[in-house]
Amino acid sequence: MYNDLINFIRELYGTDQFIPLHAPTFSQKDKDYVMDAIDSTFVSSVGEYVNRFEQDLAAFTGAARAVATVNGTCALQVALRLVGVESTDEVITQPLTFAATANAIAHLGAAPVFVDVDKDSMGLSPDALEIWLKENAVFKAKAKNSQPQSVFNKTTGRRIAAIVPMHTFGHPCRIERIVAIAKAWSIPVVEDAAEAIGSWSKQTHCGLFGDLGILSFNGNKTITCGGGGAILTQDDTLADRAKHLTTTAKVPHPWEFDHDEIGYNYRLPNLNAALACAQLERLPDILKQKHEIARAYQAFLASRNWGQFMAEPHGTQSNYWLCTIALADRAARDALLDATNTAGVMTRPAWKLMPDLAMYAACVSGPLENARWLQDRIVNLPSSVRS
Ligand SMILES: *Cc1c(COP(=O)(O)O)cnc(C)c1O
Repeated sequence: MYNDLINFIRELYGTDQFIPLHAPTFSQKDKDYVMDAIDSTFVSSVGEYVNRFEQDLAAFTGAARAVATVNGTCALQVALRLVGVESTDEVITQPLTFAATANAIAHLGAAPVFVDVDKDSMGLSPDALEIWLKENAVFKAKAKNSQPQSVFNKTTGRRIAAIVPMHTFGHPCRIERIVAIAKAWSIPVVEDAAEAIGSWSKQTHCGLFGDLGILSFNGNKTITCGGGGAILTQDDTLADRAKHLTTTAKVPHPWEFDHDEIGYNYRLPNLNAALACAQLERLPDILKQKHEIARAYQAFLASRNWGQFMAEPHGTQSNYWLCTIALADRAARDALLDATNTAGVMTRPAWKLMPDLAMYAACVSGPLENARWLQDRIVNLPSSVRS
């Protein structure tokens, strides 16, 4: 039954060899920039490429500031710390995400709270968020006589310190509504836009709606520098704090070693930044190719009745990091996964939901109907660009 899909993907990639889910491509420019960084001897946390990457990334996304980090997980950890997340707090996020989202929350000692996603965007649902907050949250003073008030979970007594929506597989979630709800409750928003470089909702790049947003440049993402990440923000003060915290909180001085708080060694090395600069220059072309691949899948599936292409939500532009289809049920999903992977065409189900992982099983969760519906049905298809 799925043979015509397998043949279609083989034609799309013009090969009878193994087809990976997502592999990076490198050009001569990528190699030239990396060699140049090596020749300069500035391969570590100081160098021209890392500064340039931050400027180029800010220009591409429209962010006032970008701060480059060693990976997306560390970027998220620092972003959460910058909006005030502490070890006794809770942070609302979605159950359908990569483990790194929940891990970054847990790295600060805080507890994730899982609220359902929307079926179409696959990202955090503003309706579910609003209902969960109404039923479970209350405004209280943080300490006796302290102003302003914070939001607390009525049941656990813990403060709700942030909301982390994720733009799943590059599709923007309903971020404008999420931010509006968060504002009404005075809860900061940190967007996990790790999968969403080159994705826009209306005219605004993902990661720029909340207080801070983060990106990832891991090997499987739309563009890569081996390992890397970034914090995006429109707020200069937050950006300065992010840079300071990720560079060991060293006080600038020509020779003195002075650190004014416990910082992190999270700065993106210049060697990786060289590759990141070259990849970012190629991003418009990569995005064009990814849209062509998405359109091809969409056209193919339009004439099939067994699977539905997950198109970019209305009013958004997705980078189509991983093209996704929804099957009729879990049995149909498993049959497709079996047929394609046996044929050497790599496909993958969605991640196991976070509350189904042992370490997050005890966390607070709202009803997760849509997340479970999607988990039973969605499959990621090969989505690499060819050059
Ligand atoms: C890739 C990813 C991250 C983490 O990025 P790394 O650079 O691998 O640390 C975080 N969240 C989501 C949703 C991701 O897909």
